[in-house]
Amino acid sequence: MSGHAFSTLQEMVAAARDKGVQYLGITEHGPALPGACNTIYFRNLNVVPKVIDGVHMMMGAELNILNPHGDLDMDEFFYKKMSHRIAGIHLLCWTPGTRSQNTDGMIGAIENPWVNIISHPGDGTAELHFEPIVRAAKANNVLLEINSSSMRPERHKTEAAPNNLEILRLCKQYDVPVILGSDAHISYDVANYEYALPLLAEAEFPEQLVVNDKPELFFSFTSLEKP
Ligand SMILES: [Zn+2]
Repeated sequence: MSGHAFSTLQEMVAAARDKGVQYLGITEHGPALPGACNTIYFRNLNVVPKVIDGVHMMMGAELNILNPHGDLDMDEFFYKKMSHRIAGIHLLCWTPGTRSQNTDGMIGAIENPWVNIISHPGDGTAELHFEPIVRAAKANNVLLEINSSSMRPERHKTEAAPNNLEILRLCKQYDVPVILGSDAHISYDVANYEYALPLLAEAEFPEQLVVNDKPELFFSFTSLEKP
């Protein structure tokens, strides 16, 4: 729905079902990103069935972190009823600061009690200090996403792989779970982690800290309600 993606909800669900996905997170970008949905879309998420073709639907949003103050682009009124909330930095609606200020902004979002996942912290859009971010994520039960899509060669995000590797090494050191994200903007990419998986191997990342195939861990760590 965000203007730069290419599949319907039904196509995403069909792809998820075909790949054996039990829980499908759909998180349109928050309204500050050009072309993204207005808040009226997010108010109407309740029309989507809770389960479609055996796939449990988790309808949320990927909120934009706007600045080093950690401001988000949507009022709590709109996002508090969602099944979950992601927050992330996106170049087209981000006012950068110094590395320390950017880090404070991301930690501000992590400390928002409604935020459950930070999207693509390693994609290089903002310069960040990862160690305090990993520690804040652990303290606030927020998952950091290892985003596979940002490492696609076509995107030329040369810092994404080394950044994600650093995040994985820190999460391993501090015993913090992570979530792999396909960031699918077309149905073919649902649950596609092809660029994230080699990094897990390179970091010798503990399998038990990857939540994707462990719903119990996902729901217990985030305290989210199981749909
Ligand atoms: Zn997008």
